[in-house]
Amino acid sequence: MKKVTKKYRLVCGLEIHVELATNAKMFCGCQNDPFHAPAPNTYTCPTCLGLPGALPVANRRAVEWTIKFGLALGCNINLFSKFDRKHYSYPDLAKGYQISQYDLPFCYHGAVQTSQGKVALTRIHLEEDTGKLIHQTIKGKKVSLVDFNRSGVPLMEIVSEPDIQSAAQAAEYGKKIRQLVRYLGFSQANMEQGEMRLEANISLSTDSSLPDYKVEVKNINSFKFLEQAINYEIERQTRLLDQGITPKQETRGWDHRKNETFAQRSKENAADYRYFPDPDLPPIKLTEKQIADWRKELPLLPDEIQQRWREKYQLNDELIKQLLTGAEQVKKLNRFFSKVKKSGLTVNKVAQAIVNQKFAFDYQVPCSQLIARYRQAVATTMIDQRELEKVAAQLMQRYPDEVKRYQAGEKKLIGFFLGQMKASLPQKVNMSQVKQVLENLLQSQVKHG
Ligand SMILES: [Zn+2]
Repeated sequence: MKKVTKKYRLVCGLEIHVELATNAKMFCGCQNDPFHAPAPNTYTCPTCLGLPGALPVANRRAVEWTIKFGLALGCNINLFSKFDRKHYSYPDLAKGYQISQYDLPFCYHGAVQTSQGKVALTRIHLEEDTGKLIHQTIKGKKVSLVDFNRSGVPLMEIVSEPDIQSAAQAAEYGKKIRQLVRYLGFSQANMEQGEMRLEANISLSTDSSLPDYKVEVKNINSFKFLEQAINYEIERQTRLLDQGITPKQETRGWDHRKNETFAQRSKENAADYRYFPDPDLPPIKLTEKQIADWRKELPLLPDEIQQRWREKYQLNDELIKQLLTGAEQVKKLNRFFSKVKKSGLTVNKVAQAIVNQKFAFDYQVPCSQLIARYRQAVATTMIDQRELEKVAAQLMQRYPDEVKRYQAGEKKLIGFFLGQMKASLPQKVNMSQVKQVLENLLQSQVKHG
């Protein structure tokens, strides 16, 4: 790869789609679990198959989660919003249109903090996912099959402003979005399974203004590919601009085998989609009170927790990241850490023991009991393997007759050795570990003797 010239400034925004893990689909009661469906087209009904006359009903939980996600990112919420039909013709979309939100999304503005600065959000809206096309060869004939298990799955779309200034910042921004949806329990956001999908709008500018073209790279399913696609586009567009050519406004795909983007189609604009309000779905009116209640239900957020644990307990960011698995766990950990500190232990050491699985942190167990467990775990691991072997070897020398009897087949003598070991060791130890050491030593003496 050639080094990218600094002549141009990257102008990049991301569109991130996240499938919400509600029980039911967005506009019908069908099970929302396309990846684990027993067979294609099992989780379907007239509504998500797009049959004429079937009426959609919006999933309340999906609306609530989208708005809570927006609140967590500091968005404003539209108290009056609606669903619109977005028309396009493709076999994975049975109705010929997708229900989405056009001019009145649930959330707008807000921002995500990254180490390279703030990335402002344009909007967060809710729509429905499409079915899935499967290309196969059956009896020598190439066919395309459609599986509608995914059709109608709630899909939250987070659109950023073109504030992203590097491929690394794009990845950091995307990872923070993924962390937050997982943390709030709204989605597993598993990218290999398509639960989270990335699109990047990429162009280059010579000054602070926005360029008059935009290249959209679609269907990126990993952060590594996202960085590679952006860096590839920087190079490709630089080459064109250097020749005085404005890159074409188009949609491109990412070929991860060739490590390059490729042209897919020229980009549609909003007029091509002929948006209009879905007449089957009434507008959604929310009250200030409802929004305030949802805001109150939000847990302590990852950014807040990170700052608190860094300042209060001197935990480093890497350690914190591994502890931020979900809101419920973090709530418990936060309480636990304050008790740990009061008990005189070092939170940092306890936190590391949790991450390294030196002791089992069980979220169901009371804090005081957990602290006792931690102390015990630390005590029993104080004696290392070598120390145990040394004590065991001394024991063998002291009791040569018992060793011979054991080796001749009197296996129950292991109990005698265990008792002697226990008496010789300065503190409580893990007895199965001791037994292992003894048996190994007695065996090896047979071989050598
Ligand atoms: Zn359905």
